[in-house]
Amino acid sequence: MDFDTIGQYGSRLGTGLIAVVSERQSIVSLLRNLEQFFARESCGWCTPCRDGLPWTVKLLQALERGEGKPGDIDILAQHAQDLGPGLTFCAHAPGAAMPLESAIRHFRAEFEAGVAHLAPDEVS
Ligand code: SF4
Repeated sequence: MDFDTIGQYGSRLGTGLIAVVSERQSIVSLLRNLEQFFARESCGWCTPCRDGLPWTVKLLQALERGEGKPGDIDILAQHAQDLGPGLTFCAHAPGAAMPLESAIRHFRAEFEAGVAHLAPDEVS
């Protein structure tokens, strides 16, 4: 296991931390906790990191409560792109982007389960 090999599989070794997660763990909650850490630790220099990460947390919290809006998952996926490598001054934002992108790619159904189901007359 090394940085290049993991990168070939579309992931990132990051700081080398390995977290073992129960299959009963909500991935949306796990990711919200992780993104909250990144948002709190942002130094605020770059707009996508300073403003994008708190927005990411807000969207994930709504999905956690089952109050997400249609389109929230696409916004989160766009955030993952906007925070990607080369778009910010340091690797902090890409470090937040990779798990976001990866979680949506591998656990999209869990995100979709957090979107509020509106009654037909509530749909605009
Ligand atoms: S990407 Fe790095 S430099 Fe930019 S706001 Fe985030 S922590 Fe600061």
